[in-house]
Amino acid sequence: MSQSSSATKIDHLDAVVVGAGFAGLYMLHRFKQLGLRARILEAGGGVGGTWYWNRYPGARCDIPSLQYSYQFSSELEQEWEWKERYAPQPEIMAYAKHVVERFELGPDIQFNTRVAAAHFNEDNSRWSVTTEAGDVISARFCVMATGCLSSANDPEFPGRESFTGDWYHTGRWPHGGVDFSGQRVAVIGTGSSAIQSIPIIAAQADQLTVFQRTPNFSVPAHNRPQDLQEEAEVKKNYRAFRANGRAQPIGWDTAGNERTAEEHTPDEIRTECERRWEMGGLYFYGTFADLLVGKEANDIVAEFVRGKIRERVKDPQLADALSPDTIFGCKRVCADTGYFETYNRSNVTLVDIAQSGIEEITTHGVRADGKEYAVDAIVTATGFDAMTGSLDRIDIQGKGGLKLKDKWHAGPRTYLGLTTAGFPNFFIISGPGSPSVLTNMITSIEQHVEFVADCVAWLRDQELASIDASIEAEDDWVDHVNEVAGETLLLGCNSWYLGANVPGKPRVFMPYLGFPEYVEKCDTVVKNAYEGFQTA
Ligand code: NAP
Repeated sequence: MSQSSSATKIDHLDAVVVGAGFAGLYMLHRFKQLGLRARILEAGGGVGGTWYWNRYPGARCDIPSLQYSYQFSSELEQEWEWKERYAPQPEIMAYAKHVVERFELGPDIQFNTRVAAAHFNEDNSRWSVTTEAGDVISARFCVMATGCLSSANDPEFPGRESFTGDWYHTGRWPHGGVDFSGQRVAVIGTGSSAIQSIPIIAAQADQLTVFQRTPNFSVPAHNRPQDLQEEAEVKKNYRAFRANGRAQPIGWDTAGNERTAEEHTPDEIRTECERRWEMGGLYFYGTFADLLVGKEANDIVAEFVRGKIRERVKDPQLADALSPDTIFGCKRVCADTGYFETYNRSNVTLVDIAQSGIEEITTHGVRADGKEYAVDAIVTATGFDAMTGSLDRIDIQGKGGLKLKDKWHAGPRTYLGLTTAGFPNFFIISGPGSPSVLTNMITSIEQHVEFVADCVAWLRDQELASIDASIEAEDDWVDHVNEVAGETLLLGCNSWYLGANVPGKPRVFMPYLGFPEYVEKCDTVVKNAYEGFQTA
């Protein structure tokens, strides 16, 4: 630690990591293993990242616990016992805290510290990271582990400030929980967060009114206590189990069907859809090999799920209003527990705002479709400024004072989703252009972190001061990401993958679709002495 001439307190470290979610924790662990002086700066009061903030009722992972967990430590894998097939938020938090204790990360995490700025200083090739409290850390490496879904999307509803009741966002849920007993509650939004919380809020509240702009596809999760025999089997073969997961297009094993829809007879199609329905949730992505590239296959699956919605919702008109007419999987498919059945309750009302939108928030409620709905509490389940939002909120400046926000004004540009040209020694874990949100996040995170740690170790071995992506490699990668997305059906709706949920955000498909290929590409880059990068 040292003092600058202006007497501002400046800490000198090897690396700063922003964010104490699963990415930040593992990054810190790897840096410590390398002997680096590293510290995490975390805005929240605890670890867990997105799971720290998203404490809304019913929050739970929709990837099976045995797969949604770190694989870097066999001991950790063996000792941790998952209680449910799909871990609820508190169990994931407990796991994150266990990781911190087990790997002695706590002393190097600084909580309640929001980063305001990160500037690259060309004179000494170091990053100056400034907190909102005005503290400055000088570090050679700056790693943004700020998460893809951590910057809440707060639509500017007219009249919002006039509302006299309670206001919540699912992504910033009060730590003490909320009791809606006896209340009239509005939920705005019908994405994954809403679909998980609506059944629980409906069971608690006097009256629930759901404001839906676009209906979503959802498949029952079929959550249950963890099958102990399955767990024992997996624990016996964890290495092979993980390797198999990493070989899959979404980084975990959905036991995907390798055949296209047209390779099935109509009876086989029905059987396969029913079988997937029983497997539940995101296993439905594995129905047919061409689900996300073949319109006919997609139509079959979409119609099958619409048929299930008609079975689950008693009122045919309501079932119709809840049925998406878009591409299955174009927006992220949801996994639910009794979501559609909730609309059979007498205390639940659906308001279709596809045409009107939310017209106004009034003193006592929500006005939509020409009518005012009086409520005591409003829950906005309106999602996130995904992938770029958490970076945009920090004043990040690279070489020549180039602002990341300006560089990305027409859409994010990265090389491998990990680096962006003009920002040396600056890494993003699960950034735009990485497979991240289209995969099992923890699997992707581990691969990214290992890439960064290996790169830092390589620079040290080569006695190099810095590494930066070349513009050519970045341009090629951006073109490639777009090209791959263009071959799928995923450009065909207004998803957050495209930034379409945030007014004014450039419409660019942000994640990279192609997990095992991505890992191969990264491995090749390393093998070829970090091709596509410039070093100094
Ligand atoms: P989301 O999927 O983006 O859903 C937001 C909802 O709010 C949508 O229904 C959207 O309608 C609506 N909305 C947004 N702005 C609006 C406006 N101005 N007026 C009216 N409605 C508006 O957000 P999310 O549900 O928080 O989920 C985000 C992602 O987080 C998920 O896709 C998933 O990747 C992840 N997640 C995972 C889990 C899990 O693991 N179980 C749980 C929750 C979330 P439109 O569709 O019309 O835009």
